[in-house]
Amino acid sequence: MLNPDFPFPYDEYLSHPAGLGSVPAEMHGTEVAVIGAGLSGLVAAYELMKMGLKPVVYESSRIGGRLRAGRPDGQAGPVADLGGMRFPRSGKSFFHYADKLGIETSPFPNPLTPAAGSTVIELGGRAHYAETTADLPQFFADVSNAWDDCLEERAHFAAMQEAIRNRDLATIKRLWNELVPRFDDVSFSGYLATSKAFSALPFEYREAFGQVGFGTGGWDTNFPDSFLEILRVVYVDADADQHRIIGGAQLIPERLWEHAPGSLAYWPAGTSLSSLHGGHPRPGVTSVRRLKNDGGAPGDIAVTDRWGSVAAYPAVIATCQSWLLSARIDVDESLFSHKLWTAIERSHYMQSSKTFVVVDRPFWKDIDPETGRQVMSTTLTDRLTRGTYLLDNGPDQPALICLSYTWNDDALKWLPLDADERVRLMLHSLKQIYPTVDIASHIIGDPITVSWEDDPNFMGAFSDNLPGHYRYQERLYTHFMQASHEQRHRGIFLAGDDISWTGGWADGAVTTGLNAVWGVMNQLGGSTPTENPGPGDRFEELKPIRLP
Ligand code: FAD
Repeated sequence: MLNPDFPFPYDEYLSHPAGLGSVPAEMHGTEVAVIGAGLSGLVAAYELMKMGLKPVVYESSRIGGRLRAGRPDGQAGPVADLGGMRFPRSGKSFFHYADKLGIETSPFPNPLTPAAGSTVIELGGRAHYAETTADLPQFFADVSNAWDDCLEERAHFAAMQEAIRNRDLATIKRLWNELVPRFDDVSFSGYLATSKAFSALPFEYREAFGQVGFGTGGWDTNFPDSFLEILRVVYVDADADQHRIIGGAQLIPERLWEHAPGSLAYWPAGTSLSSLHGGHPRPGVTSVRRLKNDGGAPGDIAVTDRWGSVAAYPAVIATCQSWLLSARIDVDESLFSHKLWTAIERSHYMQSSKTFVVVDRPFWKDIDPETGRQVMSTTLTDRLTRGTYLLDNGPDQPALICLSYTWNDDALKWLPLDADERVRLMLHSLKQIYPTVDIASHIIGDPITVSWEDDPNFMGAFSDNLPGHYRYQERLYTHFMQASHEQRHRGIFLAGDDISWTGGWADGAVTTGLNAVWGVMNQLGGSTPTENPGPGDRFEELKPIRLP
């Protein structure tokens, strides 16, 4: 996911034998607070530990954050990925850690992929069964071609993909820096409607595109987004070749917590984040305040936890969703500039809801004797459920159905309903598509459901910039470069997927965690090896364009 805003090759940085950097020996053992035990916080804490620092991780909910595993109460069996569930192979920084931790993956059964086996697209009450795109009516090929054409028309699509493939950083920057001012104010739907390709076709083509979309399914709930957000996804193939994690995505943060790195400074062999913390992260943070040195100069930063314990740190990494820094945590206003506070407040979060049921076996693979087809398929529909995904765990093993995965307005429809009400409505929708299939008779245990906007530890699923938001994201992203900040604004580093350019993708949680590590290392007098410059060392060369 070589991101065009800041195309720093994090995968090369991570795999370089010289390592990510070091701090002076007198700094070894220095405590650094990390707020949040999600992927970003744990990556940051893990790398700080390897440098010989002492990360102190605070968590208000449970380890894993938005890579949360859902299980029916009290039952073993398959794990539902309530947050991230399909990880693009192009997310090489994410896979750097997945591979290190011995994580096994398999292709995610996205629509029209071999892993799905078959797909049903049901729009306007008409269902189309397909094993490959070639099985669909010509209409869908025309929609798909219009999408390809409109990307090429004004967004240098092929040239950008080639530059990304070749790691031609200068070309990536040149192409992107020209597009940012042109498209920051253009919405996704605005871009489609004004494209030659779609404007030559009746409205139904755009409508169907919104409902069926590309890669993972329909994207019309993202039509209000800045078109730059969509380009960031498709340029780097984030929506293609996605894998699921066998055993659930939560395994990654859980294993990071327990993993003892092979080489680390200062700490004895066998040290892990878990062992540094006596097995548990510290409780959630309620306040972050700047202490003053004698004479009033800015001093360390005091972090207070839920039960009133206070500890002071020379550096703090905050990885919780940034809204929480004003809405749930009492953060000293002077820690950030007003412009940064504005950027935090203007972040836009998507809502998202998922509902899973465990079923006795992957019954959808049964063959309907009349049609000779599977009785049920990965399903995209314009009904309430929108996307239904079938997750097999082996023949005759309990399996999972993600009855519905929705975003934004589609997710808000589920918000006031409890799990049973959600499932009843979802089964009703699916009955219209599969009248002869009795899904309910296969369900075992309680349904598993989530609405991320309803959880006070998150307040939303993930960020997604609206038109005109580029400047805010640029402020958030570049905040780890603090040399020119006023002294009172230094020492707290933001990370996490809403600080990245790719909200909603775990790779951005990893890479912003690495930016924060670079920032902390730099502040504590450390540096990267000359042969392996880090994100801050190459910042001037690669930095995101600044709009006036
Ligand atoms: P988080 O996981 O949010 O971690 C922050 C942590 O801070 C949380 O554990 C939270 O409890 C904690 N916290 C909050 N307040 C406090 C406090 N006061 N004190 C201490 N701790 C606090 N990515 C993909 O790559 N592929 C996908 O398919 C995908 N799908 C997704 C679908 C959904 C519905 C969602 C929600 C996310 C999805 N993502 C996906 C994104 C991926 O899950 C995230 O990028 C990643 O998990 C974010 O990690 P993070 O560490 O940045 O944030």
